[in-house]
Amino acid sequence: MDQKSPQKQSSSPIKMSINNIDKITYAIKDSWKNQQDENQKLFDQFLQYCKSQYPVFNIKFTCSISGEWLEQPVSFTQCIIDKKHLNDCFDLKQILKYLIQNDSNFMQDGYIQCPLCRSKSHFKKDIPLIPNLFFQQLKQQLNDKSKPITYYLSTQTLIPFYPGFLGKEQFQYNNQIQQIFSQQQDAQQSFSTIRKIIKGNESFKYFHVCLLGNIRIQIPVRGKQCRHLECYDFLYLHWYMQQRDQKQLKCLLLGCQEIINLNELQLDSELYEIGLKSFNFSSDFIFDPQSSTLLDTYSITNYDPQIAAYKKLVPTTTENMNYIKSIYDLTDRIYSSTRNQELTDKFYEHPLNGDLNVIKDQSTNCKVEIPCRCIRCDKVNVCDLRFMSCILNQVQHPENRNGVKTYSVSCPLCNNPFSPKKRHRDQSVHEQVYVDTKMLNFITTIKNFNYLNKEKYQLFLQKKLYPSLRFEELESPIQELDQFNLKLRCLITNQKLRNPIRGIYCHHPEAFDENSLTDLCSTGQLDLNLAQCPLCQQSIHKLTHDNTLKELLGQLQGDFDEVQVFPKLKLIKQLK
Ligand SMILES: [Zn+2]
Ligand SMILES: [Zn+2]
Ligand SMILES: [Zn+2]
Ligand SMILES: [Zn+2]
Repeated sequence: MDQKSPQKQSSSPIKMSINNIDKITYAIKDSWKNQQDENQKLFDQFLQYCKSQYPVFNIKFTCSISGEWLEQPVSFTQCIIDKKHLNDCFDLKQILKYLIQNDSNFMQDGYIQCPLCRSKSHFKKDIPLIPNLFFQQLKQQLNDKSKPITYYLSTQTLIPFYPGFLGKEQFQYNNQIQQIFSQQQDAQQSFSTIRKIIKGNESFKYFHVCLLGNIRIQIPVRGKQCRHLECYDFLYLHWYMQQRDQKQLKCLLLGCQEIINLNELQLDSELYEIGLKSFNFSSDFIFDPQSSTLLDTYSITNYDPQIAAYKKLVPTTTENMNYIKSIYDLTDRIYSSTRNQELTDKFYEHPLNGDLNVIKDQSTNCKVEIPCRCIRCDKVNVCDLRFMSCILNQVQHPENRNGVKTYSVSCPLCNNPFSPKKRHRDQSVHEQVYVDTKMLNFITTIKNFNYLNKEKYQLFLQKKLYPSLRFEELESPIQELDQFNLKLRCLITNQKLRNPIRGIYCHHPEAFDENSLTDLCSTGQLDLNLAQCPLCQQSIHKLTHDNTLKELLGQLQGDFDEVQVFPKLKLIKQLK
């Protein structure tokens, strides 16, 4: 497949050159108009054949010859007839460019050869490329978002790859995934039904984030009886329960007392579809009463602090919706790439250099939400992927520069230059950057920490850092009582009760001690998501401080084991 000199192009059976590629593209597309039924039949037969051969496979939505995104997926007719490479196809323009550059290799004596499988087709005038209807239909289901997916042929289900730490785990659960998608849907469990009951027709914000794992949901499920919009991610639930050898947990949503049982999960297919069609990196939605649908906040935004920060560096950057959309498309594709995990693992084989800067990035002054760096960076520093995408876009499309000379074509972190892709063997710009999936997990799962520093990050990497206690401050339940006796011991640790806290569902005066509970959680000995109050058996994933009791305890002079409390009189007496 050597690059041939331009002189040899004259041997081509048809006159093709890079200059008239748009014309050829148009002619090819035009020739498809009368073959739609025929083509559909070919693909139906292809899929039927593959059902038993390849029941599950992965699709990347990149051109198999250039590695660029698939705008118009095409295949050689002969490959489809011969039932070759169902999960590989070409982008129309990319394959034409490639054939022109290498024509004597693939076009000889009125034959053309597929560069992938070498199957030969005879041709006279039009190149025998047909639209790949299979890829085209999948792209429609994803609303043209080119995220890699796993496809289950028997149930015709597609699941986007999980970015971050669930990425590789995903394939363990193929059976469970097919099961939940083939299961009968409960009409009471659809987004519209619940939305009408709870929210009526008002506009509201909706976060497509797992109640348990804080990650963006790909497969939204709830407990059998749950009647709230918030969901769990199917795979995260399975993964989490498997780690702990559990089959069920109490629903974590405040006010919902249902049991989440792995065998009785209910899929919300409406929310699943909405998730498919929106950006993978985004979980923020807004309900629009007019269209009665959830809108991806990113798809309607015309202001983004990361893009605005870039605009400050390159003042003539157009900030219209088209520009923002192209930046988000690039962001989403890099975010969804399967290479992120590999490159992250490789990066952490070496000791960490540099500082953690996720709280405030130097060049943008913004918090980093999607941490990324270039493949040449050797320091732990990151910048936000949306900001990085602005730079990459500029590298590949210098025409967007609008005459400004001082635009950045190098990595803002290590200053190594990026290079645009000019020939098919060049590395694409999106391959020169990756998302640090470990740091992404750190940012999303350890949300309730006040500040994130390098020391905490290192503990996290060693799996020694656990989420701190979560609080929601409520009135103290003892205020209603006239008097009660209380042992000054933590219900869970049996340590001295100094800073009394309880689960938000507890209605008894007995309490836990904050410091000893913090110790227990920070060493990973207690998982508050699963723990129950030993006295009333309620979930204690969220806690509340009892300041009324704390003040009364402060009145005590000396060390006691049991007291008598009169909350209304603000009085406390020692018993033992
Ligand atoms: Zn082929
Ligand atoms: Zn629930
Ligand atoms: Zn770099
Ligand atoms: Zn309790």
